[in-house]
Amino acid sequence: MTMNPEAQMQFLYTLRSKGVTDGRTLQAMEKIDRGVFVKGLFATRAYEDMPLPIACGQTISQPSVVGLMTQALNVQPRDKVLEVGTGSGYQAAILSQLARRVYTVDRYLRLVREAQLVFDSLGIVNITAMAIDGSYGLPDQAPFDRILVTAAAEDPPGPLLAQLKTGGIMVLPVGQSDTVQSLIKVTRTETGFDYEELRSVRFVPLVEGMGQE
Ligand code: SAH
Repeated sequence: MTMNPEAQMQFLYTLRSKGVTDGRTLQAMEKIDRGVFVKGLFATRAYEDMPLPIACGQTISQPSVVGLMTQALNVQPRDKVLEVGTGSGYQAAILSQLARRVYTVDRYLRLVREAQLVFDSLGIVNITAMAIDGSYGLPDQAPFDRILVTAAAEDPPGPLLAQLKTGGIMVLPVGQSDTVQSLIKVTRTETGFDYEELRSVRFVPLVEGMGQE
């Protein structure tokens, strides 16, 4: 399935109208076809601005939320980025267009394997996908310039804060699952952390331990 020009124009128009205005983010989202990350019944709805179900009871995020998170992360071309919550791989593929290297992790091996197949089919070579519990981050590759968490924790996980470089940015949803969560931008300064609340969102929860599939 490929995006026809009309669907693509509508897709980009919706992103802009929902506040995704950063040129590099829009370019990356124009290039990465969401249709290849959505399988089965819902594939025909890939260009709607809605979260959709994927395997293992998880969801691919709403495109405008992906855009707003990507834009808030302000990724630079030399950056090493960690994403916690690979899911379909869509967000990681967008980050791969903006960063030097992306590490993406998920607690479901099945999701990591399927995402890796899509990265391979698209010829994306700067993503390393791993099946681990991302609540402890990825100590072997730390520190990171940018960290994006796409599942909601009650608070920013300590190990992730510790793995952020000085001057680095982490974007994550925080709050109880199934209630209102806030998208937060954390910037690590010389002396501590600055917190900025961006908007309310709804994500699946960050769950400790490995998944069964
Ligand atoms: N970014 C994804 C959407 C992620 S949905 C995309 O673009 O499609 C959230 C994902 O976080 C789910 O796949 C879930 O399995 C994963 N997740 C939840 N808790 C986790 C944890 N502790 N470590 C790693 N991944 C986790």
